[in-house]
Amino acid sequence: MKTVSVIGSTGSIGTQTLEVIREGGFAVCALAAGRNAVLLERQAREFRPQYAVLADENEAAKLKAALADTPIRVMAGADAVCAVAAMEQADLVINAAVGIAGLRPTLAAVRAGKTLALANKESLVCGGALVMAEARKCKARILPVDSEHSAIFQALRCGQPREVARLILTASGGPFFGKTRTQLEDVTPEQALRHPSWSMGAKITIDSSTMMNKGFEIIEARWLFDIPAERIDVAVHRESVVHSMAEFCDGTVAAICSPPDMRLPIQLALTWPERRGPMRKQIDFTLPMNWSFYPPDRENFPALPLCEDVLRRGGNLGAVLNGANEEAVALFLRNEIGYCDIARLASAAVENAVYQPSPDVQNIFESDRWARAFVRAAAQRGEDG
Ligand code: NDP
Repeated sequence: MKTVSVIGSTGSIGTQTLEVIREGGFAVCALAAGRNAVLLERQAREFRPQYAVLADENEAAKLKAALADTPIRVMAGADAVCAVAAMEQADLVINAAVGIAGLRPTLAAVRAGKTLALANKESLVCGGALVMAEARKCKARILPVDSEHSAIFQALRCGQPREVARLILTASGGPFFGKTRTQLEDVTPEQALRHPSWSMGAKITIDSSTMMNKGFEIIEARWLFDIPAERIDVAVHRESVVHSMAEFCDGTVAAICSPPDMRLPIQLALTWPERRGPMRKQIDFTLPMNWSFYPPDRENFPALPLCEDVLRRGGNLGAVLNGANEEAVALFLRNEIGYCDIARLASAAVENAVYQPSPDVQNIFESDRWARAFVRAAAQRGEDG
């Protein structure tokens, strides 16, 4: 019986993690989320953690009142979320918080030497060098939850690290595959929120549609697998069955395939180093089928080359890019900027930022704040004409 803490338990990854936990074999130490007191109360009553935590202090007060008849200890605030990430009682912490809010819990978990199942890719986009250095120092293990990185993690078992030539991340291409930039100018939030293969939280769904998510995944892969940016490629694969690939020095490619279901990579991270059932939906090889691959369209989806450029330049630019993107996506979802403004504003923030080669945590959060303010001001100026 493994004891697990789930950060971001009320979100898309968090609720699917609890679905896997519900199937048995785990005890829950703590559940943490942002502000959804109603769902966290329901989850706490079902999974009986020792701790239930909300980052939002007002909502945590409501949760505390709601759980007063239980022995569950309710805690409030960002520091309490970090405390959950570092708790000794948990064998494994899953970080499924969205955005830079996940960075401090990630650092808390690795500094405590935990095994961390990491869905929060923004931790590595903003602070990859720092997180990986701390993980090495504190002997923490980071297990990927993102389906692409879970696939690469599995594919890499086919060879030695020195035999790896290239990683190939697959991308569904999102709802706007084949569209030109002119056609994309008028995209609405409703259209961008309709993903063809995955059902996910709003922010990552928008990131997937702009290909910013794929760019973030390149950065994530660079840090998780310690491989330079030049050896990470992207292939658009519309069927979302091949989840990613590793190519070895003799040209052999190992691909990990399954029908798209996030519970699979979540389950593997939870049960690692074992692989366990239940058997989920299978690929039916008795039926004819085609798997297609296309090169990514870097011209009409400029977020992808922007991320590649940021990864090459390093320093605090990942934090700038992430902060600018989070702010721009929020503005787009409120209909305050256009769809193509997301990548445009993110790129402008990167170009205007003061470069810091080796940012510490404080620099990362300052870069994030600066980028958000930059995007808000630029959007405002745009609106003003
Ligand atoms: P959601 O928006 O569905 O959920 C986000 C979760 O983060 C919610 O539980 C939210 O709580 C919580 N949260 C927000 N702020 C804080 C905070 N300050 N402290 C703790 N928790 C907080 O996102 P997803 O589940 O879609 O994505 C989560 C992460 O996983 C992202 O980094 C995403 O890139 C990554 N990911 C997601 C995939 C997917 O299929 N959804 C696939 C691969 C990676 P509340 O709602 O209570 O405010």
